[in-house]
Amino acid sequence: MRILVVEDEKKLASFIKRGLKEKGYAVDVAADGDSGLFQAREVPYDLIVLDIMLPGKDGLYICRQLRKLKLGTPILMLTARDDVEDKISGLDAGADDYLTKPFVFAEFLARIRALIRRNTDAASPVLKVADLQLNQITRKVTRGDREIELTSTEFALLEYLMLNAGQVVTRTMISEHVWNDDFDSFSNVINVYVNYLRKKIDADFDHKLIHSVRGAGYVLKES
Ligand code: CA
Repeated sequence: MRILVVEDEKKLASFIKRGLKEKGYAVDVAADGDSGLFQAREVPYDLIVLDIMLPGKDGLYICRQLRKLKLGTPILMLTARDDVEDKISGLDAGADDYLTKPFVFAEFLARIRALIRRNTDAASPVLKVADLQLNQITRKVTRGDREIELTSTEFALLEYLMLNAGQVVTRTMISEHVWNDDFDSFSNVINVYVNYLRKKIDADFDHKLIHSVRGAGYVLKES
């Protein structure tokens, strides 16, 4: 899952980025309204965290613009004031949820998870394909009765494949949703990580779940 954080307070932005990265999200930060709006239009983010008070275009303007462009990406609005007016204008502008700064990171995370889940219409945080299970909240992954330890990038990649189970995901889709802006699209990082995942998910099992689709990408499916 890839998240755009539009926040001009450097300390807060890097705190959010670090925290989200630890949880396996790919994160890009935009420090002003104009670059935030540009990024949000260019990249198919899974969620946008949008501060209201920004240099350049403000958060409310950006939110309205994105909704006008029919961009349905979930938006979590941040504001410094616990002000009912701000909250109402944020929701009126098309934001999906709202959080007042300063906030507790655990609550921030919970809201992000809820918004992403709502958008992927996964009713439960537990994704299942055959005997493979991934819990998006506890981050526990099991195959059969065996627990599988994954790094945060491996987890993010598997989560993305499982959310799209049965459908071919291209390398471009993977790079757009699992990696952030620092990703070098000419590298073979994706193949490397798919191979790591195969070793952990498939190698010891007769029944393989991760399949390559020649010239297209990968698909995770039962058979
Ligand atoms: Ca601000």
